[in-house]
Amino acid sequence: MEERGSPDGDPARSLEQGPEGQETPIQVVLRVRPMSKAELRRGEQSALHCSGTRTLQVSPPGGGPDVAFRFGAVLDGARTQEDVFRACGVRRLGELALRGFSCTVFTFGQTGSGKTYTLTGPPPQGEGVPVPPSLAGIMQRTFAWLLDRVQHLGAQVTLRASYLEIYNEQVRDLLSAGSPRPLPVRWNKTRGFYVEQLRVVEIGGLEALMELLQMGLSRRRSSAHTLNQASSRSHALLTLYISRPRPQKKSPSDPGEFPAAGKLCFVDLAGSEKVATTGSRGELMLEANSINRSLLALSHCISLLLDPQRKQNHIPFRDSKLTKLLADSLGGRGVTLMVACVSPSAQCLPETLSTLRYASRAQRVTTRPQVPKPPRLESEMLQLQEENRLQRCQVDRMEPSAPGLHGARASWAQRNLYGMLQEFMLENERLRKEMNQLQRSRDLALREQQVLTQQVQELERRLLSACSICPGPAVTTPWPCLMLPAAPCHALPPLCSWPCCHLCPLCQSPLAHWACPQREGHLPQMLDPKAPGDMPLSARPPPWAPPCSPGSAKCPTERNHGSWTQTAVLAEMLTGEEVVPSAPPLPVGPPNTPPVLRGGAGVANLAQRLEALRHQIGSSLRCGQSQPPPGEGSGNPDHILPPH
Ligand code: ADP
Ligand code: MG
Repeated sequence: MEERGSPDGDPARSLEQGPEGQETPIQVVLRVRPMSKAELRRGEQSALHCSGTRTLQVSPPGGGPDVAFRFGAVLDGARTQEDVFRACGVRRLGELALRGFSCTVFTFGQTGSGKTYTLTGPPPQGEGVPVPPSLAGIMQRTFAWLLDRVQHLGAQVTLRASYLEIYNEQVRDLLSAGSPRPLPVRWNKTRGFYVEQLRVVEIGGLEALMELLQMGLSRRRSSAHTLNQASSRSHALLTLYISRPRPQKKSPSDPGEFPAAGKLCFVDLAGSEKVATTGSRGELMLEANSINRSLLALSHCISLLLDPQRKQNHIPFRDSKLTKLLADSLGGRGVTLMVACVSPSAQCLPETLSTLRYASRAQRVTTRPQVPKPPRLESEMLQLQEENRLQRCQVDRMEPSAPGLHGARASWAQRNLYGMLQEFMLENERLRKEMNQLQRSRDLALREQQVLTQQVQELERRLLSACSICPGPAVTTPWPCLMLPAAPCHALPPLCSWPCCHLCPLCQSPLAHWACPQREGHLPQMLDPKAPGDMPLSARPPPWAPPCSPGSAKCPTERNHGSWTQTAVLAEMLTGEEVVPSAPPLPVGPPNTPPVLRGGAGVANLAQRLEALRHQIGSSLRCGQSQPPPGEGSGNPDHILPPH
């Protein structure tokens, strides 16, 4: 069949140039149907004359100047269905849909002008009787071409279809299982306007698609009136959804490849009609009013879309279900083709002129075709999901036993507990160091006390020796014990008078009281019978406290009384196995200050007592007229005692 529908300005040509993001006008193709048999019988003359392939001349019946309308293509009544299909460039639309564009083909015109015929061919002659292939409309031809194209593409393409009608401002699903029920039209940012709960059927092949079309056509509302025996009483929208698998790697330089999910929508509008002309009454009139109202809303939107200033503002797409569902095709990102259909009959000239003006305006409406991209929200969500996934991986690596979100929370809690544990460990370490220092201090004090004990013992031994040289009966004996004075000496402690008193293991002489191991039991009797037996030793007067003698060189009262008692107490204390510290709290000093040794006070006390003892020895030595005991070079106790 000869292709005669490719004039200059073929809409397919501009589409080939690539519509992405560019202002692209709605392509309009005008089809003039042939005179019907009835019109021919009435002898009507056509008022329309095609001039070339793109211009239509309208000659008013009452005379007057012709009016010319220019479209992308003008097809007279002699054109076949195939001519129309080719001239409209629907195949190009199909290609764009395969690339992810949203494409729309809609027919527009007066009732009985051939809209349905152009899209789907003549009405079925009977149940199950297919439309002859030569009369098949744009839709059947497009289906055949598309499925063939998909097969040759070799790519995995999924085709799905939905079919609905808008009847009396109600959306009905023509593919629903039961009887069609009204469906709501919704809107969201991602999808724009859409019909909720609309059935979408996956297409397995051309046959299935053709059956689906026939089913929808058979369910669509139509009625007979004077101008059309099978007049569509609803707007019908059949949409093909074309899905292709997303490329593995998204190329930022080629956003057109992502995502490949286009659609191709065929809209068969119900025709505008003058109720007076069609003779519609009752329900037909209601239907006609509803149709006209929605077409008026469509016309209004197109008028506003033509105004550049108004276009920036509000377009009342919400005024009707039809304009809602055509919003993207008219002023959005779709690629749109309008097939304006007119009748050649002079009787229909007013409506024909209206359609021509309408179509002329429509072809000045532009869209900005765009392949839908992942919405910003979706891309942000994907980014966050990726970030979340990475963080979860990190958490799982830190705590393999607690993967996932629970692991993250557990890890968070454990990190906090771990921080507390670390603080406790540091504090414990600090306390342990302090305790070690204290133990070292105690050991040091113990060692010091041992040394002091030895020194005290040595000092006492020397004191004993010094006492042996006190004036009295001169006894020369090799044993120092035998030098103990038999007579009381005012400078020396008395001998223990108790019968069990111990003797010197060397010379068997009685020991002085303070050297007697059982002196504690003898004291009360020895000192003062009235003295309480439970008086502590340190509180008692020294058993050998000499009486004060006015003739002595130094009055014993001048001596430190406590120094004598302290000596005995000191001996007791020093021979004890353990120093029991009072354990007062450590003084809080500035940081880095070594802790004060707890044994320090005891050591100072010992030093004081040593000093007292040294003083006592000095006094004793002076008392002994510097006569050293055998084996001693000097009576000075400082030779024995370390400097304090
Ligand atoms: P519309 O849908 O615009 O109301 P239809 O498509 O139903 O009009 O057409 C009305 C009548 O005109 C139908 O009987 C149809 O067969 C016939 N018709 C329309 N266009 C053509 C055409 N190009 N060739 C032959 N018959 C046509
Ligand atoms: Mg129709």
